[in-house]
Parts: sequence; C-alpha cells; structure tokens
Amino acid sequence: MDLEIDYGGDYHYIPATSVGNGIGIQVMPDIFSYTVQIVNIVFTGTPQSENFVLIDAGMPGSAIQILSALKERFGEEARPKAIILTHGHFDHVGALVDLVQHWEIPVYAHELELPFLTGQRNYPEPDPTVEGGMIAKISALFPNEAINLGNYVEPLPSNGSVPHLPNFQWMHTPGHSPGHISLFREQDKTLIAGDAFVTVKQDSLYKVFTQEQEVNGPPIYFTPDWKTAKQSVIKLASLKPQVAITGHDLPMSGDALASGLERLAQQFDDIAVPDHGRYVDKQH
Ligand SMILES: [Zn+2]
Ligand SMILES: [Zn+2]
Repeated sequence: MDLEIDYGGDYHYIPATSVGNGIGIQVMPDIFSYTVQIVNIVFTGTPQSENFVLIDAGMPGSAIQILSALKERFGEEARPKAIILTHGHFDHVGALVDLVQHWEIPVYAHELELPFLTGQRNYPEPDPTVEGGMIAKISALFPNEAINLGNYVEPLPSNGSVPHLPNFQWMHTPGHSPGHISLFREQDKTLIAGDAFVTVKQDSLYKVFTQEQEVNGPPIYFTPDWKTAKQSVIKLASLKPQVAITGHDLPMSGDALASGLERLAQQFDDIAVPDHGRYVDKQH
C-alpha cells in the first residue's frame, strides 16, 4: 500500500441512489456504461478483452461494486490498463484510491485537473443556494476536498491522444471544472461527455431515472463557470455525436441527442444556467 495516496478529508459515503444503480448498458460493442448509485462509469473493450480502460471511478465506497462489475464483463483477472478521468469531482473519483492501490495502474487527467487530484487544491464548495430543487439543497453534503493520487496521476498527452484508447481523442471541455474533458471517437461519433452536459432534468438528478430524457447543462451546484461551460457545450454539439454517455442518467443517441444538444447549445443561458446562485451572480 502506498501511504502517500488518500481521499480528501471530507470523503464519505453518500446515501443517494437511483433505480439505475448496478445496471450496465452496452452502448457500443466495446463501450459499456455502468451506473454506480447515481453516476455512470464506462468500461471500454469488448467482453473478456484484456485491453481496456476504466473511465471515471464512481461514488465513495463503491470499489467492490466496480470490481465485481468489471469481473462480470472481463473475467476474474480483470485489470484495466489505466483509469481515465473526465474530471475529479467526488462522484467520479469515489473508488479511485482503492482501485489504484488494488491494480497499481496509472490514472490520466487533464493537467488543469491535477491540483484537485494531488491534494493541492479543493474544489469550490457546492452551492446549496443555487436554484434547482432538492438536489441543490442536499449538495452541501457532497465532498469537495482534493484527493491525493501522488505519482499515480499523470497529465493526458497534449496531442489529444488517449492512452490505451487509440481511436479516441480527448477534448478540453471546462466550465463544470477547470480540467474537465470529454472523449470522442470520430469513426462512429461516440461521445463520452462526463458532466459537460447531462441527459436528465436537473430536478430529478439524484432521485430517479425517468423515461423522459432531455439534454441538460452540467450539474448546477458544482459548476462554477457558466460562460466556459456554454462554450464547451457548443464545442461538443459541433461534433454531431451519434451516441453520448454522460456522467449522469442514461445514454442518448440519434435524433433525440442531436436535437437536444443543438437546443442546449443555442439556448444554454435559458436551459442550463440557474437564475440565481453563488457562482451565477459572479458572472454578471
Ligand atoms: Zn462533476
Ligand atoms: Zn458528476
């Protein structure tokens, strides 16, 4: 065990869940989305492959659940080549220290996200005063302190390539966090968007999955820079993805995705930006 690596000081289990917990969806033959309580992680690679990566690392306390889901898809010896992070919020790094110690594998993230992953800088406090219903109000419980991965975390290559994922490119999609990235595969227009946008109504996020999906902006209580978040959505819409997996709620594809993303890009201020909140007022 490497004693230098640890979770943030406010790390704790969050008792929030959804009906999707524990459910996996094969979105493409080599892209599998798996839900941990209320957040999605992604396994690349076809079943039983030895060459795959894990994208994001779930909720606090979810390492055993993630390990068993990986074993189910890749066999008892399942061991990813690396973990790629869309960003470092608590619901995307929740099992990361356990998993890194278990597998001894590298973690890759955008260089602007590294301070939050090496114990140097905490995320801004979640904003429970933001408009957006119950979830925003309970967001005060969410950990925001930096975890420390020590030498296990490395910056993504600056040329846009993604280690162990030769057909994907990463793109910088900040706003929700400074070093937020999305992953895109041009050949089949597959997008892994992290929290750059989500496919659920903000009010129902962290409650239940509804049948009714809609493309929405990033989770409100944790987004400190709305102007940049808007530019990131415009960038992602211009890729015209055919299928998208987001950090929260179900994957979307086809016309519903195309029209929803286009609408979000064009009307971002109305759809995504809350009317009031700690980080909203700073923009005006
Ligand atoms: Zn996030
Ligand atoms: Zn998230």
